[in-house]
Amino acid sequence: MRRSPLPTRVCVTCGRSFTWRKKWARDWDSVLHCSKACRSHPVRDRDRSIEKTVIDMLRGRGPSDSICLTDVARRIDPENWKSGLEPVRRAVRRLVDQERVVMMQGRRVVDPDRARGSFQIRLVRD
Ligand SMILES: [Zn+2]
Repeated sequence: MRRSPLPTRVCVTCGRSFTWRKKWARDWDSVLHCSKACRSHPVRDRDRSIEKTVIDMLRGRGPSDSICLTDVARRIDPENWKSGLEPVRRAVRRLVDQERVVMMQGRRVVDPDRARGSFQIRLVRD
């Protein structure tokens, strides 16, 4: 994997990493969002409560147990869980950035920037 020589940062909204661009040359230090879309959707109390739900669900299980993306979405809204998938994805990516959880696919830890489709979530082991 080739690493970009340009600085990168994790978006505070979607939890994906993004790379320095020339248009940010003057104010890179204050750039928190990867895109206009993320800038217009700041993290709200509801988003923080999704993060808390993920952690609470994991703490209720064994230390090496995992939960699935859809488990969380169903817990939050059993009827409209599909429309809740994207907010849960964002919350999990933010938790990965906080080094509280890892994303897994096929028993392997995956980079949140590269994971496609569904995934499992596990607490970071101490
Ligand atoms: Zn973003």
